[in-house]
Amino acid sequence: MTYDLTVIGSGPGGYVAAIRAAQLGMKVAIIEKYPTLGGTCLNVGCIPSKALLDSSEHYHAAQHKFEAHGIEVKGLSVNFGQMMNRKSSVVDQMTKGVQFLMKKNKIDVYHGVGKFKDANTVLVEGEETHEISSTNIIIATGSKPSSLPGMEIDKKRVISSTEALTLKEIPGHLVVIGGGVIGMELGSVYNRLGSKVSVVEYMDSLIPTMDGDLGKELQRVHKKQGFDFYLGHKVTSVKTKGKKVIIDAEGKKGPIQLEADYCLVAVGRRPYTDGLDLQNAGLSTDERGRIPVNDHLQTAVSSIFAIGDVVQGAMLAHKAEEEGVFVAELLAGQKPHIDYNLVPGVVYTWPEVASVGQTEEQLKASGVAYKSGKFAFRVNGRAVAGMDLDGFVKILADEKTDEVLGVHIIGPRAADLIAEAVVAMEFRATAEDIARICHAHPTTSEVTKEAALAATGNRALHA
Ligand code: FAD
Ligand code: NAD
Repeated sequence: MTYDLTVIGSGPGGYVAAIRAAQLGMKVAIIEKYPTLGGTCLNVGCIPSKALLDSSEHYHAAQHKFEAHGIEVKGLSVNFGQMMNRKSSVVDQMTKGVQFLMKKNKIDVYHGVGKFKDANTVLVEGEETHEISSTNIIIATGSKPSSLPGMEIDKKRVISSTEALTLKEIPGHLVVIGGGVIGMELGSVYNRLGSKVSVVEYMDSLIPTMDGDLGKELQRVHKKQGFDFYLGHKVTSVKTKGKKVIIDAEGKKGPIQLEADYCLVAVGRRPYTDGLDLQNAGLSTDERGRIPVNDHLQTAVSSIFAIGDVVQGAMLAHKAEEEGVFVAELLAGQKPHIDYNLVPGVVYTWPEVASVGQTEEQLKASGVAYKSGKFAFRVNGRAVAGMDLDGFVKILADEKTDEVLGVHIIGPRAADLIAEAVVAMEFRATAEDIARICHAHPTTSEVTKEAALAATGNRALHA
């Protein structure tokens, strides 16, 4: 078969690229090696983790908040099997949705491993073998969990996020290696369900790539929720002993040893190009396993593009989607643009963490003169009504021009609140602009307005 565009990989990067290209009139094929579409995000990432986060949040609220609300529940317990079944049905619904969208947009779906025969030909090796000729090709093969050197993820007791999303029992003690996004999200799921959760993090802060104040507040709140943290600790060995896992780590104050029922390794993800036979197309990967691309997401071969987790940049579903649309529109002769500084990052703990633009550490390092306004949720009417008192909004603005340079939120539904900041920054708003916009009362978005007021002349109204 011959196509205008062939996409290898059906994650949020790949399937969105395919849809946009089909909308623009291209004849499109998509290749996926797994039986279901949607990639990491829909099958073993964003969607199942959020389903379990939502379920465990309900349980936690029933245990810790209902009484204060005057709701009495007797004999509360977790039906873990049902929780997992609901998660699987959410995944099923979402992956079938992508299948429907492929059909609706007349995109040909091939199941099997896509391999380059040459720069314009891809072989699909599945139950049947197909040879596909294509004018242009997008590699959207995503990423896989990383492990630590010399330590094997046996998928039984030493697990990655994929297994943590399908456990058959609630661990008594879960040790998480890595206090990043996955560690804090999946750690939260099991902490709420009753596991003892210990997080061993190499750096001195949780979520260390985000603004430092967010990591501190996240740690404070999760300590209250029952987490144990070992920051500044380097894991030196992970060994299984029957049904237990022994984790050794080295900190500034000396070595520690933890015994767990399960050890979740959440130390990042690596780009995935196994089986693609890149060399047949004249392509190779860089020292970190990524496919090198230029500003147009074009590889060393001009008709082959690469997007999402398999290339440089944040490993986020919405970043992959933007890149998918970018390449499709570029191929259609349009002039698309992505501002990577405005890709928001979210951690779906409770409270949620959300961020866009520059962190305070980045502004300091680059010598930009800035001012900062911070406002806590503690005194916000909606937050008090909902008993969501932790967290704050921090707005960083240019000292001279007042342009908003970064917004960092930890608080209730921060994931939704960050959208206002992204829109503001897209239109190059000043902190004064946000301060002057009417925000509905009572909403937690008023905290953003107060932070903007604080950033412009220290005039927050409810401080
Ligand atoms: P992927 O989604 O990884 O898809 C790649 C696809 O390519 C896969 O289906 C794979 O099977 C297929 N493939 C690979 N090689 C071949 C081949 N040779 N032939 C055919 N098919 C092939 N991001 C967010 O933005 N928000 C979140 O809340 C979030 N939560 C996450 C939670 C977890 C537990 C994890 C692990 C990740 C999460 N992410 C989240 C990250 C997000 O899942 C990824 O950034 C996103 O899926 C990347 O999309 P992609 O299209 O580049 O690749
Ligand atoms: P991450 O980069 O967020 O966190 C990994 C953490 O492990 C870091 O804090 C790092 O310092 C630590 N670490 C590394 N080596 C270590 C060691 N030897 N000992 C102790 N700690 C060590 O990676 P992740 O949490 O595995 O997530 C992978 C990717 O998936 C991320 O890029 C993330 O963007 C994406 N993801 C996103 C979301 C979301 O958007 N909500 C959710 C889950 C995953």
